[in-house]
Amino acid sequence: MQHTVTPVGIIRSCFKEKFAIPRQPQLAPAARGVLELLPPFDQGDAVEGLEQVSHVWLLFLFHQALEDKPRLKVRPPRLGGNRSMGVFATRATHRPNGIGQSVVRLEGVEPGRLLLSGIDLLDGTPVLDIKPYVPYADSIAGASNQMASQAPAAIAVQWCDNALLQAREHALRLGEPLVELIEQCLAQDPRPAYQVPPAERVYGVKFWDVQVRWHYPQPDVIRVLEVVLA
Ligand code: SAM
Repeated sequence: MQHTVTPVGIIRSCFKEKFAIPRQPQLAPAARGVLELLPPFDQGDAVEGLEQVSHVWLLFLFHQALEDKPRLKVRPPRLGGNRSMGVFATRATHRPNGIGQSVVRLEGVEPGRLLLSGIDLLDGTPVLDIKPYVPYADSIAGASNQMASQAPAAIAVQWCDNALLQAREHALRLGEPLVELIEQCLAQDPRPAYQVPPAERVYGVKFWDVQVRWHYPQPDVIRVLEVVLA
């Protein structure tokens, strides 16, 4: 049976590329975005009552990871990228039908727009459905997952003086918690698993409209070098 789905909205996100997006929602509370609803859901009626809800589930399409050939096994970054697992045992982006799910904080409800934080979604992500988080049903005391029993350990993020000044200025201009966003995302250590880069190797990513560059002066320390307009 084939079934066609149509997005109800599109995410406008602080994340402009896949690199350095946290692996799950809630890991970076300063990661904010707007879900722009598409007709006919852009009218107030579709979101009436949602202001009573603190969090929503988003079902979305991993639109930048769609593949024709289904994979049965994947190598989750969480397991170091060198152990394979059944696709249904993981939250990998390469999966049948390319459907992702994230529970995110609902910061505001406007006709045609939902204001979100704690997101792990790329800019332009098509959203297929929105459902209210239901604490008594969705939070399961005693639930376990031996592969992902707790959030990944955060690593230290340090700033060059000038980079911190730059980040504060751009935060003011954007009206966004940019310093916190950078610290929360880089603390997740975006580099590929087990890569031990030389200290002179510089990494970069675009958040909002700024380019953030950093290096690893020690294997488990990030130093932010600059935050400049992309
Ligand atoms: N919370 C979701 C889930 O469990 O289905 C996503 C988990 S997935 C492991 C998180 C990663 O998806 C992020 O680190 C980001 O790189 C990637 N991602 C986010 N939005 C995407 C999109 N629209 N297309 C492809 N990859 C995306």
